Amino acid sequence: MPAQIFGGSDKFYAAATIGPDAPLSIVFHSQTIAKLQEIVGEEARGLVSAAFKRWNVRVREQLRRATGLKLVDETTRTQIRVIVQDGLPSPLAVALDKHYEELAFWVLGHKSILEATKSGLDLLNKRTDFILSRYPNLELDVGPSSIEIHHEKIRYARLLIESLLKRFPTDSLKQIYAIEQDILGAYFFRRGEIHLYWLVIGLFSKALDISVEDMTVIVLAHELAHAYTHLGLDIDGNTWSTDRFAGTDLAVVEGLAEFYTEQVAKALDGDHKNLQDAFAKMSDKSPDVYRLFKTWAPNHRNVGEVIRQSMIEARLRQVSDHATFLKIVESAKKQFTATSS
Ligand SMILES: [Zn+2]
Repeated sequence: MPAQIFGGSDKFYAAATIGPDAPLSIVFHSQTIAKLQEIVGEEARGLVSAAFKRWNVRVREQLRRATGLKLVDETTRTQIRVIVQDGLPSPLAVALDKHYEELAFWVLGHKSILEATKSGLDLLNKRTDFILSRYPNLELDVGPSSIEIHHEKIRYARLLIESLLKRFPTDSLKQIYAIEQDILGAYFFRRGEIHLYWLVIGLFSKALDISVEDMTVIVLAHELAHAYTHLGLDIDGNTWSTDRFAGTDLAVVEGLAEFYTEQVAKALDGDHKNLQDAFAKMSDKSPDVYRLFKTWAPNHRNVGEVIRQSMIEARLRQVSDHATFLKIVESAKKQFTATSS
C-alpha cells in the first residue's frame, strides 16, 4: 500500500474553505451529534475554551523552545487562529454513522461515574450488616427487609454496572481510534487555523478517563506543533513550503507533531502532573502511523537535538518520504553520538 501523505485531498483539514461551500470539512447537524451532546454535556465547551486560554501561551513557549522555530518575527507576522468548534470533523461523522451504538457511547461517556458507583456499592456491601444491626429503624422503603435482601440488591446493581463496563470496554471505540486523521482537533494548514472539537474532546476525555483540561492541552500542543513545523521560521527565516508540507508522508508529519506534543507534556508536567499520563493514554489509542516516531531515536541522550536537526534538514531538502527521513535521523544520531562522547 503506498504511503499516505499528510495533506491529500482526502483529508478534511486540507480544505481551504469551511462552511456551506465545503460540507465535507465539518458536520454540524446530525442525530448522532444531538445524542453525543446529551452524553457529553454542554459544559465541555466552556471547559475546552478555558483550558485553551489558560495554556495557549505556555504551550507555544515550549514549542518554540523545543523546535527552535518561531511563528512571528519583525518582518513576517504569522498568526494561527484557534477556534473552539461545534460539530464533528467529517471522517468522524462518517464513522459514527456506521458504528454508533447508543449504549456503548452512553457507558463510555459515563465510565468514571459508573466505576465510582461500583466502588461505592462495594463499600456499602461490606458495611450493610453493621448498618442494619446498629440502626434497624433506618427508613428503607424496600418492602420486607432482611439483611440478605439488602446484600442481594447491592450485588445486583453492582453486577449490572460490571457487565456493562465489561461489555463496552474502551476498545469498543476501536473503529474510531483507527481513523488516520486528527479528529479531536485539526490544523487547517491552508487557512492557518486550528480547530478544537469540544464535543469530541468531551467524549474521549470521559472514555479514556482524562480530564477535559489535560486532553485539551494535548490536542492544542499537537495541532500547534503542526503549525510550528509548517510555518515556524528557522534562524535563516525559512519555513516548510505549504505544498511540500502537504505532500509529506503522514508518518513524518504526524510523527513530528506527536514527538513535540510529548516534549510539551514532559516540560509542562512540573505545573500539571497528569499531562504525560494523558499523552501516553491517547498515544496508546492512536493509529500505528502516529506512533512510528517512537522508533526514531528512542533513549538517545540528545533526542531533542537529533529530531530538531532532522526536521530542519527535511524541510530544507524538501524530503517528503519516511524512509529518507529515517536516514537523516540515523546520520543525526551518529553525529551527536560522536560529538557527545
Ligand atoms: Zn496531527
